[in-house]
Amino acid sequence: MTAELIRTDDYLEVRDLRVSFGDFVAVDGVALTLLQGQVHFLVGPNGAGKTTVIDALTGLARGQGVATFDGEDLLGRSSHAIARLGVGRTFQTATVFNDLTVLQNLDIAGLRHRRRRSLWRARHGIPDAVAEAAEAVGLSHLLDRPAGVLSHGQKQWLEIGMLLVQDARVLLLDEPVAGMSAQERDATGELLHRIGRERTIVVVEHDMEFVRRYADVVTVLHAGRVLASGSMEQIRANPEVQRVYLGD
Ligand code: ADP
Repeated sequence: MTAELIRTDDYLEVRDLRVSFGDFVAVDGVALTLLQGQVHFLVGPNGAGKTTVIDALTGLARGQGVATFDGEDLLGRSSHAIARLGVGRTFQTATVFNDLTVLQNLDIAGLRHRRRRSLWRARHGIPDAVAEAAEAVGLSHLLDRPAGVLSHGQKQWLEIGMLLVQDARVLLLDEPVAGMSAQERDATGELLHRIGRERTIVVVEHDMEFVRRYADVVTVLHAGRVLASGSMEQIRANPEVQRVYLGD
């Protein structure tokens, strides 16, 4: 078997992204290059524009400028069309169906997405993509449990699993570890690196200790602009970042 070629065009490129709400400019010329195989953290004070960047990349806020994934324009497309291109997101509050089982949630994510490959069923009734996603996010043993009984952390993992079922290649995660136990945080950090090997992961996060442990690349936003981008060491050493964000 020959190894698969690494696709060099498989990345998300953002240039001069701007988002305004009336006269207020929330995102003011943001540039990001998000490579496959990297866990990229987006940090910055409240109101810096982190969520709005994700909203613009997923069709929930009207962005101007350039944002492409795999050579396809994202701006101006519907959320559904962007998801079909392989760009998926989670929200700060998990949007799972509490009355349905973990299996049903994963199954519905696949059906809703309607990617041809995820629709055929294996003989035992669980689609391959669903079984693989459940395994990847550590929920295989809970497939028949209602999502409503899951812990906060498990719900976030289920949401990530739902993106995997949809074959998302870019995952934009808005504060996935907020409210998680220390154990769940560690499990999530490891999960991100596991699934991030073949995907592009972007995480909005406030907990700088978590960022330090799990970031390949950190971008600091401040007042809608990129203040600095690089490794955690580079970010920490940046005087501007120290001044406006890391404090003393
Ligand atoms: P962050 O995620 O970094 O905390 P946000 O992206 O949520 O910041 O918000 C950036 C700025 O844009 C904030 O000042 C916020 O109040 C404003 N904002 C976000 N969404 C809207 C909206 N729908 N209408 C008006 N202002 C908004």
